Amino acid sequence: MNRYYVDLHIHIGRTWTGKPVKITGAKSLTFTNIIEHARHVKGLQMVGIIDSHSPEVMEEMESLIKSGEVYEHPEGGLVFGDLTIILGSELEIYDEQCNGPIHVLCFMPALKEMKEFSRWLSSYLKNIQLSSQRVYMTGLVLQRRVKEMGGLFIPAHVFTPFKSLYGKGVNRSLTEVFDPNLIDGIELGLSSDTQMADQLEELHHYTFVTNSDAHSLAKIAREYQVAAMEEPSFAELQKALNREDGRAIIANYGLDPLLGKYHKTVCAKCLNLLGSEDQICDFCGSKKVIKGVADRILELKTAESSPSWRPPYIHQVPLEFIPGLGPRLLEKLIDHFGSEMAVLHEVPYEALSQTVPVKIAEMIMKAREGTVNLAAGGGGKYGKISE
Ligand SMILES: [Zn+2]
Ligand SMILES: [Zn+2]
Repeated sequence: MNRYYVDLHIHIGRTWTGKPVKITGAKSLTFTNIIEHARHVKGLQMVGIIDSHSPEVMEEMESLIKSGEVYEHPEGGLVFGDLTIILGSELEIYDEQCNGPIHVLCFMPALKEMKEFSRWLSSYLKNIQLSSQRVYMTGLVLQRRVKEMGGLFIPAHVFTPFKSLYGKGVNRSLTEVFDPNLIDGIELGLSSDTQMADQLEELHHYTFVTNSDAHSLAKIAREYQVAAMEEPSFAELQKALNREDGRAIIANYGLDPLLGKYHKTVCAKCLNLLGSEDQICDFCGSKKVIKGVADRILELKTAESSPSWRPPYIHQVPLEFIPGLGPRLLEKLIDHFGSEMAVLHEVPYEALSQTVPVKIAEMIMKAREGTVNLAAGGGGKYGKISE
């Protein structure tokens, strides 16, 4: 079995003609730039492009297939050199029953299915060109359609406070919204990790996925997983998520949850840190509280520890969090050592310290060992290294 680095949640900022897809996404986040960057700078072997339903994005894929730069894998996915692209779509479900909005990730085996899926979706949402659109249907209807088409269905960043399954504070169980048998994995989101998520017993049979939810090139692979598969294709990914024939996700790499934007409960107005029970800010008096992921999970807690099959979750500190490591030094590191993945996990201290200032080399090593001090994030503000 081979090992592959996989990040399944990358947005498209603009199409090849410059039209917005993820409006808040970077202009440089085009399909062509993403696949170049994911392969050469980040060192990934499989990426999920989560705005593949957008017609102009599919046109760009088709033109790359025509020119011979990309081809369709017979087992699903598009192949660009040693990178496989999985076609996905992030959608927002919203109806009276589901207490939405809730984000979900849907993946299709090939371009043909994605085209059909996109056509079907277009009558349930306002603008098929755009990312993360609200679809006016229940979770169950969407799940069934995805499954009929041979796709994968994964609830996205399940604990984040505004647009997720558990985060909004109403749903206590995924069975309130979804058919539990039609779920292929659970995406953890930046503010939680395996140990936190496994405090919900109902999640124990699902594979956890850790993805970047990148809205810019730099953020690709800030979370990812290692998949054991025979080859990088859609069919193998499906097996890995369902832990069949020896295929599996064998490690999750993600931010220390303290670095996530919604780890702690804070006042929505002044971001003052609050206790889990606080209804009113003791600093500014505002009654708007943004519940942190850590406190939300405590409310839902039904289990103490992870199931025995659960792979390790390895905390990582992406290079952009290292104080003093600006774009110039980052480029130098990537030029020298090939990819961010190599710098984060493999390059020895001696080599790092010959390339960047000793202070930064030391910080990368401390981050690798998990010994940096972190100040927790909350209310939409990332945590940071407090040195
Ligand atoms: Zn989302
Ligand atoms: Zn997203």
